[in-house]
Amino acid sequence: MHTEAWPVVGHEAVIHALARDLAAQRLRHAYLFTGPAAIGKHTLAIAFAQAIQCEAPGAPCGHCRTCQLIAQQRHPGVHVLLPEVSGKIIKTAKIRIETVRDLIRQFALKPMEGARRVALLVDFENANAESANALLKTLEEPPGAGILIVTAASPEALLPTIVSRCEHVALRLLPVAQVQAALQERWQAPAAQAELLAQLSGGRLGWAVEMLQDGAALERRTQHLDTLQTLRSANRRERFNYAESMREDRDTVVEALGLWLTWWRDALLLVHGSRAAITNLDRAAELRTSAAKLDPNSAMRFVEQLLGTLQALNQNANLRLALEALLLQLP
Ligand SMILES: [Zn+2]
Repeated sequence: MHTEAWPVVGHEAVIHALARDLAAQRLRHAYLFTGPAAIGKHTLAIAFAQAIQCEAPGAPCGHCRTCQLIAQQRHPGVHVLLPEVSGKIIKTAKIRIETVRDLIRQFALKPMEGARRVALLVDFENANAESANALLKTLEEPPGAGILIVTAASPEALLPTIVSRCEHVALRLLPVAQVQAALQERWQAPAAQAELLAQLSGGRLGWAVEMLQDGAALERRTQHLDTLQTLRSANRRERFNYAESMREDRDTVVEALGLWLTWWRDALLLVHGSRAAITNLDRAAELRTSAAKLDPNSAMRFVEQLLGTLQALNQNANLRLALEALLLQLP
């Protein structure tokens, strides 16, 4: 078994178990990978599909035609169902029943010589009960030697009937040190940047890579969170000036509000003494000082208002007015 050949960072025990099943020809007909966003569920699912189909059996070689077609989502024997994302500002993801039925139909076709069909159903928590139920029969008895790989945020986010038909594999956050090493070795990030991003990611490599690839994203984040602190101690006039200055810049406002939301969620976690990990680790001191002085109810109301403002902007509300109304409530 050569598990180091898998193009996946971390999740070693899981890869080992999957490779062992594969080598022993003991694959289950449905797998469910669960875990927080951006920790590598989708990457692992693709690598697993490659391992199953690869021309050099046992591991995804990454180089053969089959592995490459799978990586490009062009392999005729590997079907991928991604949620449809809509909405400019608040994104909603959906898996429609027609798409599930299409997938089942294709999956039931006789595979090409020697091959077996594999289907990847990504972020399946976005399927409603009707779409999920449409999949049950296929999950129970996949046609031919077909294998289904489902990914989701958690087993609780799925119908119990889906979970019970799959081999459930729970993926965990990666150790921060492993994220840092991967950023330096595989993505050539400078050490200091890799360390900060790894810390902030809390073990979500996918998130860290996304931040790394958008070079200015970290800088913008610092700016937006600094602005939030400035505005908290600003008077009414200064707050209105900020709203006025942003009147033409919807995208920036939406990005700022999204980041403010993470800060307020962290503050609320600290106010309530929750042991859940905060997101803005580099601002822990500032958050702790603020949380000590915060009234939990007004903080909660502000979070609701933030969400409401994002929703309103999604429906083309007047940017300046929406921002003014929000800033008046800033605790
Ligand atoms: Zn290969």
